[in-house]
Amino acid sequence: MNAAYDIVIAGGGMVGISLALQLDSLLPAETSILLVEGHALPGGEQASADGYHPSFDARSTALSYSSRAAYEGMSLWDELQQWACPIDTIHVSSKGHFGSTVLAGHDYGWPALGYVVENAWLGRCLASALGRRARLNVVSPARVERALQCTAGVELAIAGADGQQQVRAGLLLIADGAQSTLCSQLGMTTHNKPYGQHAIVANVAVSQAHRGCAFERFTDEGPLAMLPLVGTVEAQHRCALVWTLPPSRAAAMMSCSAAAFTHALQARFGYRLGRLRKVSERASYPLSLTRSTEQVRQGVVVMGNAAHALHPVAGQGFNLALRDVVQLGKTLQEGLQQGLHPGDLSLLQRYQQRQDKDQDRTIDFSDQVPGLFMRKDPLLQVGRDIALLGLDILPPLKAAFVRQAAGVAAMESSSHG
Ligand SMILES: Cc1cc2nc3c(=O)[nH]c(=O)nc-3n(C[C@H](O)[C@H](O)[C@H](O)COP(=O)(O)OP(=O)(O)OC[C@H]3O[C@@H](n4cnc5c(N)ncnc54)[C@H](O)[C@@H]3O)c2cc1C
Repeated sequence: MNAAYDIVIAGGGMVGISLALQLDSLLPAETSILLVEGHALPGGEQASADGYHPSFDARSTALSYSSRAAYEGMSLWDELQQWACPIDTIHVSSKGHFGSTVLAGHDYGWPALGYVVENAWLGRCLASALGRRARLNVVSPARVERALQCTAGVELAIAGADGQQQVRAGLLLIADGAQSTLCSQLGMTTHNKPYGQHAIVANVAVSQAHRGCAFERFTDEGPLAMLPLVGTVEAQHRCALVWTLPPSRAAAMMSCSAAAFTHALQARFGYRLGRLRKVSERASYPLSLTRSTEQVRQGVVVMGNAAHALHPVAGQGFNLALRDVVQLGKTLQEGLQQGLHPGDLSLLQRYQQRQDKDQDRTIDFSDQVPGLFMRKDPLLQVGRDIALLGLDILPPLKAAFVRQAAGVAAMESSSHG
């Protein structure tokens, strides 16, 4: 590790590594970049000893077109798509109602409505790409223990295998996740709004092929999504489950036996994918919206979950974070070409202005989703359809999508009436 870098990224989760790759693709070779990650990165020797990485756990992520485009820009999509399952159709149904809606990508002229990728695979691809980018300096496992703003940037104390070292960053990019300790050290506060719901995630082996269909089932307790996954030798037909429940029910579903869980899930989801054969280890996440009150300062930008952590059922969090990553990379590239320093406040404010609308729109939208679940109006399925599957389609396409979907929902509404 050197004593100073132009840019230091604190946190190498899904967002931090994507950020490093994006900056490597766009910034001149003389801009020095250091990534510091608290856990061993996926794929390395220490990773198997450590066994757990918070960003690359048992979850799956629904990637939107904007995310596909971002990874294409980083020359990573070809590798990533080997285990990314395209969502061809979305089947929306409501427990206790007869009607259902099918949305198909080809109706909108798209090859797919989105892509579902397991976080473990995403982590592997990201970490191996990181290893191939020679100019990126990576220390892992190591932690940024302290950050202090100074006139020339930010003074950092980094603790790793070789003890603690002082490093100066011209620009510190904070990507250390929700409840960011680095943000609190710098006196940046967050708004937190708990939703009073938990999401249980697991992988489920089923007896019938999903044929690229994502299922959304609305229940009186909350939504249940089964997202299509690429099959494996052990389980040819697989889906990623996201099941939203009130906390007490979620606790019961987490502590019950695998057989009792499978039985309860089958009763809730029905038999559209045949019998549920096997459920992997379950993980539960309390749902809340957190948003940092500040995202940029002289020499500092807050990114990813540290900037905004959204209701995961909306499936928008990472897709939004990746759009921030792309925009920050472009803005820094532009600023460096104009002779500005990467930590220049006016440059960082330019980034924030460019992302403000997208962030507000996406955060408002995902915040409304939990409320939609409690409503009975079938027209509201439009919002639910998009929200649950993380299809943050580009605004013009999204508007067209919503118009189309509203027509379908309205027809369903009249057939119910
Ligand atoms: C159940 C669930 C389902 C989801 N599904 C979707 C979806 O379908 N689509 C979607 O777009 N989004 C989804 N999301 C959101 C998505 O998971 C988050 O947007 C994403 O994990 C944010 O990543 P991050 O890198 O910002 O934070 P994290 O994943 O929390 O990573 C932070 C990293 O920082 C490291 N770190 C922390 N402190 C330090 C330090 N001091 N020094 C060095 N390193 C440090 C940690 O080790 C960690 O690796 C889902 C979320 C949940 C909970």
